[in-house]
Amino acid sequence: MGRVGLGLAVGCAAISCTIAGILVTKRIKNRRKWSRVVEILSEFEDGCSTSIARLRQVVDAMAVEMHAGLASDGGSKLKMLLTFVDRLPDGEEKGTYYALDLGGTNFRVLRIQLGGNRSVILKHEVERQPIPENLMMGTSEDLFDFIAMSLKHFVVKEEGSEQRPDRSRELGFTFSFPVRQVSVSSGFLIKWTKGFAIEDAVGKDVAQCLEEAMTRRGLDMRVAALVNDTVGTLALGHYHDEDTVAAVIIGTGTNACYVERTDAIIKCQGLLTNSGGMVVNMEWGNFWSSHLPRTSYDVDLDDETANHNDQGFEKMISGMYLGDITRRVLYRIAQESDIFGDAAASLSAPFVLRTPLMAAMHEDDSPDLREVSRILQENLQMPEISLKARRLVVGVIDIVTRRAARLAAAGIVGILKKIGRDGSGGIGSGKTKGKIRRSVVAIEGGLYSGYSMFREYLNEAVVEILGDEVAESVVLRVSEDGSGIGAALLAATAAHSSDR
Ligand code: ADP
Ligand code: MG
Repeated sequence: MGRVGLGLAVGCAAISCTIAGILVTKRIKNRRKWSRVVEILSEFEDGCSTSIARLRQVVDAMAVEMHAGLASDGGSKLKMLLTFVDRLPDGEEKGTYYALDLGGTNFRVLRIQLGGNRSVILKHEVERQPIPENLMMGTSEDLFDFIAMSLKHFVVKEEGSEQRPDRSRELGFTFSFPVRQVSVSSGFLIKWTKGFAIEDAVGKDVAQCLEEAMTRRGLDMRVAALVNDTVGTLALGHYHDEDTVAAVIIGTGTNACYVERTDAIIKCQGLLTNSGGMVVNMEWGNFWSSHLPRTSYDVDLDDETANHNDQGFEKMISGMYLGDITRRVLYRIAQESDIFGDAAASLSAPFVLRTPLMAAMHEDDSPDLREVSRILQENLQMPEISLKARRLVVGVIDIVTRRAARLAAAGIVGILKKIGRDGSGGIGSGKTKGKIRRSVVAIEGGLYSGYSMFREYLNEAVVEILGDEVAESVVLRVSEDGSGIGAALLAATAAHSSDR
């Protein structure tokens, strides 16, 4: 080998040594980065633990808080509001009724026709309409005028030639925010939730606000039942199946109601005339217990929301927040490693990751997680990331969703425990002649009905907490449009009982 050749060989060896050195250092660095990522992830996973023991503590805490909320106003973070609904639809209702459902994200208008004898509900529904964002922050007059106008258009469209302007119509109004009811058809707004902030409406009778707007818009309609979505869902559930004892909403927000014995509602005995049962609106989104598995990401999310220190349970469970909890964890990972390239900026904006997108990534069963990659690039403007990093994203989503679903399950079992339907042999026992009484819980909301992994985790946890034998007597039934149809049914029930 000549001098030149030798020189080249030495040079090449030196270069390849340097390259190898760089690769090794990079690998070590990468390993370090991954080990940091794994640390963040396992710390988060531990923080979100929903072991069966912990879920049982949440069940007990829910039942205890329910007792406290029924004993006195302010006795618990659970408001346990009276609804004055002491009769649920039984199928005998007849006639045509309207309903308006103002939820979190959408509002719906519908009309039902009832023929008695548990007849099929004929309904005509308008497309769900999103609530314009400016109306969520404006004045109550603007919001209710907008709603009254949409309702009027609907009535005109539905009734067509049969329209009789002189005819008075009965409306069920589903208003899914905390309301202090004074009768089945009127109640005062306590506070807004789910991103609404119309200050001048707080403290007002919302049924009256709507009736005034309808009068301004020339629509002759009376609010016969003012309910929230849980109560509507319970009403529809009961119309179909008389064993329905509770209803849960898991959509933008979360809440539950159930049928309570009137003598257990200690705080309002003077107001209660009926000796049977009454539907109680729990406002369970505000439930809190030290047993809830809370992480630093939950604390930060709470700090940055307008309703700081409020709706703690809802912030761990509902569709409005799950995407953002996930985003916060991913953001932290992006800041402390480069496994997402330079995605930190894309992940820094609150609420950019919406829960339905998170669900779509969770349900991506392609081997290379194509959908995860597409969503991150198209919806979050993130750079393309490795398969390993995509798997990590799905891992974070899984932790967030599993915790939410299992906590909701514990909440449901808490209600069953309170009314003696959990098979534990408490008050009311749930057991008749050795047989456990059948209990149906109606569940409605986009998170439960649209997100199959969430639904599976929830159903599975209910069985895990109750055990196979008791779980067999508990039916979780998906309800659709119950929040609206149920309100119309309650308007019918109210009209029907005043006819009697
Ligand atoms: P609202 O709460 O306004 O009454 P829904 O019950 O339809 O409306 O719930 C809508 C919410 O449910 C959305 O804001 C979203 O958070 C969640 N959601 C809807 N569809 C899905 C889905 N496929 N996967 C996950 N979450 C969903
Ligand atoms: Mg709803």
